[in-house]
Amino acid sequence: MQFDHLPNQAALSDAERAAAMANPAFGRVFTDHMVTIRWNENKGWHDAQVRAREPFTLDPASAVLHYAQEIFEGLKAYHAPGGGITMFRPEENARRFKESAKRMAMPELPEELFVQACEEIIRIDRNWVPTGEGGSLYLRPFMFANETFLGVKPASDFIFCVIACPVGAYFKGGAKPVSIWVSDDYSRAGPGGTGAAKCGGNYAASLVAQAEAIKQGCDQVVFLDAAEHKWVEELGGMNLFFVFDDGSMVTPPLGGTILPGITRKSVIQLVQEQGVDIQERPYSIDEWRADAQSGKLREVFACGTAAVIAAVGEVKSTKGDFAIGGSQTGAMTIQLREKLTGIQRNEIEGPEGWVHKVNLDS
Ligand SMILES: *Cc1c(COP(=O)(O)O)cnc(C)c1O
Repeated sequence: MQFDHLPNQAALSDAERAAAMANPAFGRVFTDHMVTIRWNENKGWHDAQVRAREPFTLDPASAVLHYAQEIFEGLKAYHAPGGGITMFRPEENARRFKESAKRMAMPELPEELFVQACEEIIRIDRNWVPTGEGGSLYLRPFMFANETFLGVKPASDFIFCVIACPVGAYFKGGAKPVSIWVSDDYSRAGPGGTGAAKCGGNYAASLVAQAEAIKQGCDQVVFLDAAEHKWVEELGGMNLFFVFDDGSMVTPPLGGTILPGITRKSVIQLVQEQGVDIQERPYSIDEWRADAQSGKLREVFACGTAAVIAAVGEVKSTKGDFAIGGSQTGAMTIQLREKLTGIQRNEIEGPEGWVHKVNLDS
């Protein structure tokens, strides 16, 4: 598809951009441009533009404001040490975006067009990709229903958009192990629900539980399954891995209620290549507590694009608290974080096809 290019006439000067990028808080500093593509029933995907980042004008009856037909993605772009800019596995995000669209009765953006849109914003805002250690350009592709209609049905108009934020290392001053709160009262996703779709509604539903975690002095909330309230699922926006004293690992299985993280998938592949016995199997909160207390469980980490890999040091719940691995970041967690960030930053070679070089000339 051809994109119309309408460069921002009020783009920041080099000095202004440098100031904005000096110490960006996650998700608060944005680049000069955005990419938009429209969809409607008659024309399909059309009107692809690379243009100045600006507010949308929405009718108060726009469907997204009422029925939350909205999905999103998150991925990062990096400077390569030898020059150029790369994205980490954008084809995986493109595929997941299509799956999310299907679940939410939204039009499916072709995967090539998703990747092309990410390349377009990187090309025009290439000067916004941080060069400092730990820095990257976080891309946020998203799509929302924009039909002016209060009837409950899949909308007939949608807007796809990509915006971008320069970000520093997620954890300022190095990664400390996080503490997590086991939610008794809330579930993130249920069987047949939208847990595997990356939709805004899942996050809306998780916020009260996350707020409770903060009130309990924890960094994050961990959700158990909705049916039995027994099986460990994931955090509000990160997947979980367990590392045992015999070197084996466990991560909860995908099955509709867990978001299929690309970091999760990448970690599974990396440890399999290292010969680790990794199982995708249900793991209960009771096993977790018993294994932590017996010392069988050595490490737990959470993973996702934004924070990459974060050690879990402590678990708090109404049934008592427990620590993992002396609340220190374990060796496997450190090794995997270094390996994965090394691959993402093009410092070490990873599996074939994980790094997507952006064509900066076209
Ligand atoms: C995005 C997300 C993740 C992590 O996925 P990545 O592709 O690794 O960034 C995990 N859980 C939830 C609920 C998410 O929305």
